[in-house]
Amino acid sequence: MPLDPAGSGSASSGPLPPGRAADALLAELRALREGDAPTRGGRTFAYVYDAGLPGLDGLAAEAYAVHASVNGLDPTVFPSVARLENDVVGAVAAVLGTPGVQGTFTSGGTESVLLAVKTARDHARAGRGVDRPELVLPSTAHPAFHKAAHYLGVDPVVVPVDPVTFRADPDAVAAALTPRTVLVAASAPSYAHGVMDPVAGIAAVAAERGVLCHVDACIGGWYLPFLRRTGRPVEPFDLSVPGVTSLSVDLHKYGYADKGASVVLYRDAELRRHQYFAHAGWPGYPLVNPTAQGTRSAGLLAQAWAVLRHIGGDGYTALAERVAAAAERLVPGLRGTEGVEVLGEPAGSLVAFTVTGADGAPDLGLVLHTADGMRERGWYLQPQLSCAGMPPNLHLTLTPATGDRVEALLADLRASLAAARAAEPVAVDPAVAGAVAGLDPDRLGPEEVAAVLALAGIGPGAPPPTRTAPVLALLDALPDRLKERLMTEFVGSLFRV
Ligand SMILES: *Cc1c(COP(=O)(O)O)cnc(C)c1O
Repeated sequence: MPLDPAGSGSASSGPLPPGRAADALLAELRALREGDAPTRGGRTFAYVYDAGLPGLDGLAAEAYAVHASVNGLDPTVFPSVARLENDVVGAVAAVLGTPGVQGTFTSGGTESVLLAVKTARDHARAGRGVDRPELVLPSTAHPAFHKAAHYLGVDPVVVPVDPVTFRADPDAVAAALTPRTVLVAASAPSYAHGVMDPVAGIAAVAAERGVLCHVDACIGGWYLPFLRRTGRPVEPFDLSVPGVTSLSVDLHKYGYADKGASVVLYRDAELRRHQYFAHAGWPGYPLVNPTAQGTRSAGLLAQAWAVLRHIGGDGYTALAERVAAAAERLVPGLRGTEGVEVLGEPAGSLVAFTVTGADGAPDLGLVLHTADGMRERGWYLQPQLSCAGMPPNLHLTLTPATGDRVEALLADLRASLAAARAAEPVAVDPAVAGAVAGLDPDRLGPEEVAAVLALAGIGPGAPPPTRTAPVLALLDALPDRLKERLMTEFVGSLFRV
């Protein structure tokens, strides 16, 4: 059976073909993976987190397999689920919590944030009768909060951050609080710039007004405590900070577990109970769901449990040391590179930098050309577009696997920068940009969307562009709502059925 990595053969729609041998299917999966970015080796940032520990992937896979068929829906039928979850949440609470803290294992940061917002909404409804809830968010808060607000009928109230440090501003947060505010968010650190919000200041203004405060430590929560154990200073950010009432931390980032592993913590049981959903008014089984999911495999919980316990506190401290040592070479290397500007003061493992043009101002074209150049050299840095006065930049997440490669990264970056400066500037045809910007995102039909995507070189049947600069430059020039509409169509076009 010929393999078809492009997916037009066996993956096409139509009746399910006759069954095939396990070996052939596994071979096909392995062949498909060859077209993906590498998940190990420390050259793919943001999407994957590589501890660089031999045997860890095998352990996670075997632990998953042991529990793969167990249904996490009901810990009374499968008591191992309660035991594993208590172990995992207990370990997280011991590092980031205070006595009395309770929590839940979830599928990821998005679900942890969704649950924290739902909990705050229902808590405010029950306690204060808030029926038109608001969520106060610094502009750097992760989109998971906007998604939660959208799903849950909560109004997001976005406040600006400091334009130089990119840290949230407690005064701006305080000024946005109203009797409808159900939750305030702070990041430790923010995803986009990797800088710490002033958690204590934000939690204090929230507490003063009797409002809950969530710390989004999805990315930093399992790195910063161990960084502190290496002897480096880390600002307080967890539930021990007065006024912090909930916190999210992803074990599938710096916990180095496989994807699908996060924990949300609450200051006490009274708060956490608002997260649970129970339903008795149907003729089926009495249902209680702690999370957004119903039936779920316990495999993800088991692999996270095994990875957490295998690495252990000493192991995570050693890994944090490797990441910090890499950051301590990378950040000065970036700062010492002409035309590179590190944004804000990175809290450790995440770094965002922009590239400046001849006039000394951030230059979108150079940023995007540099990203493409790095990709050609085997590095996947994440381009981030300009937003609310914050410059376009490239984002990277350091893991231990990049530890030995910092100098190679910097050398390739300098080569990519030189090539970017020598290349044709990324020019968006003003006529195209003008025509596209004039479109009403809410009234676009499928043909108009297809025409715009074709202008950007993306179309049905067209191979994905090898250089993303022209596409992203056009996107950067558009209003957010239009960007969102076009991105939705584009991603929808990848899922052809
Ligand atoms: C990754 C991340 C999230 C969202 O988590 P997912 O695991 O991608 O669902 C939320 N907040 C921050 C700060 C993150 O880094």
